Amino acid sequence: MRVGIYPGSFDPVTYGHRDIIQRASRLVDQLYVAVASNPYKQPFFEIPERIQMLEKCFEGTRNVIFDHFNGLLVTYAKEKGATVIFKGLRAFSDFENEFRMALANRELAPEVETVFLMTSHQYAYLSSSLVKEIVSLGGNLKGMVPPFVEKKLKNYIKNRRGKKF
Ligand code: ADP
Repeated sequence: MRVGIYPGSFDPVTYGHRDIIQRASRLVDQLYVAVASNPYKQPFFEIPERIQMLEKCFEGTRNVIFDHFNGLLVTYAKEKGATVIFKGLRAFSDFENEFRMALANRELAPEVETVFLMTSHQYAYLSSSLVKEIVSLGGNLKGMVPPFVEKKLKNYIKNRRGKKF
């Protein structure tokens, strides 16, 4: 059985993430979508809420499990018996950092391969930080996130004005 991991912050899930999850889940038997707790980022949503949103996006999908991890990604990958880490690539600007991380992860765990999936062109511009910025400035997110995620973001802004991201 081939197991893959797709890690990220997913704060919140966007249609760009959804696209990568759909495509990655076709390449493995079991895909773990793993929400990372990144102490350097100031999130809008707590990890359980981010997982709930992901789950709601993928109701009825059989081979995708939503989870979270602390610490090293390769340690988590080994725990799950994964041999593939999926990353999405949007623009050249993603490349340098991802290239460095892929090489570091290979050094740490040569048995785990990083596979890059190229963004679908209609989502090339899309990131969680962009949607947070747009919603903070009063914009709409049609075509960027599912309607229920947009509602959650708008509520967040209404209730906690002034929080940085
Ligand atoms: P972001 O805040 O940039 O959306 P995440 O940490 O949640 O970042 O992203 C998780 C993974 O998904 C990363 O590998 C990232 O490159 C990828 N990703 C995010 N948005 C897109 C997109 N629109 N198209 C392709 N890959 C994406």
